[in-house]
Amino acid sequence: MDRTSVGSEDWVAKVRSTRQFSDGDRRAPYKPLLLLWAIGRLAAGHPARVSFCDAEEELTRLMEGHRLGETLRVSYPFVYLGTNRDLWRVEAADGSDIAAMPQRVRESRPFLLGEATGELAPDFVVALENPRVRSRVVNTLLDMEFPESLHAELLEEVGLGHLVAPRPPQRDPRFRRIVLLAYEHRCAFCGFDGILRNSPVAIDAAHVQMRSHRGPDHITNGVALCTFHHRLFDQGALGLDSDRRILVSQHMIVRAREANNALMRLAGMPMLEPQRGYEPPAIPHVKWHYRNLFVRPARRPSSPGSPGLMPGRHPIDQTPEAPAPSMRVSGRRRT
Ligand SMILES: [Zn+2]
Repeated sequence: MDRTSVGSEDWVAKVRSTRQFSDGDRRAPYKPLLLLWAIGRLAAGHPARVSFCDAEEELTRLMEGHRLGETLRVSYPFVYLGTNRDLWRVEAADGSDIAAMPQRVRESRPFLLGEATGELAPDFVVALENPRVRSRVVNTLLDMEFPESLHAELLEEVGLGHLVAPRPPQRDPRFRRIVLLAYEHRCAFCGFDGILRNSPVAIDAAHVQMRSHRGPDHITNGVALCTFHHRLFDQGALGLDSDRRILVSQHMIVRAREANNALMRLAGMPMLEPQRGYEPPAIPHVKWHYRNLFVRPARRPSSPGSPGLMPGRHPIDQTPEAPAPSMRVSGRRRT
């Protein structure tokens, strides 16, 4: 096929297809991170090929910041992205395709350290020279697995900050207006309600379940948060339990005493409810956030009398699935 005949939409579709083996709505950030890292290297003038031995340390550092669960095996995305040969190839020293080798071989770290080389596919490299294609591909990778508030920093992290502007897809314009009205322009975690020249300042309408993972632009998937708590919520330092009490990750460390006190005070506190007539975040969205973004385990609540939350046995995991939220923009508040 003529290399120039494949447009940006085709490359976007190929990039999206890397999610085909992931488990339902679960986040799968590692292959997108590998591609973002490889595209960033290419843009910095490095070759499209890199040995697993040379890549492992840097990829571990990058992926550790987005780790899901207890363990991280950088070799998995490095090898299994190779099943998308239009994008990435992973080969042994003799040129054979490692992704097609028996599992015990392709998952052997010593073998990969000695033999494996990953490479952005040649046609993909040519396509990425076009700034429009690069921007569409990179923004698709960001949107697939990362909350919008993290996009700019992630671009900097992979060395693409000066080349690609973050372009989040359009959301329903009513979402922000309705969420901020429902919470009366207050952060549902700390109550911050700053006004600058008669306009609310530093208050966001945050999504609970990511839009790219079927989280709707709907009041039952929204919460008003100050920009600080929005960022911590998206990064997984803060979360919510099935009673909509605030969770603080045990991995969130704040050394400054005043700031630490302010943050730890939140653990176990109920979030502020929306005003009458609007629904709070629906439990399926809250559970999605807990399982896909919150960095577990949660700290025990600091306030006396709050129920203790055991690491690994969080009550949210035992809550029955609530019915799917309606698509109405507003509704009666639950009691
Ligand atoms: Zn706040």
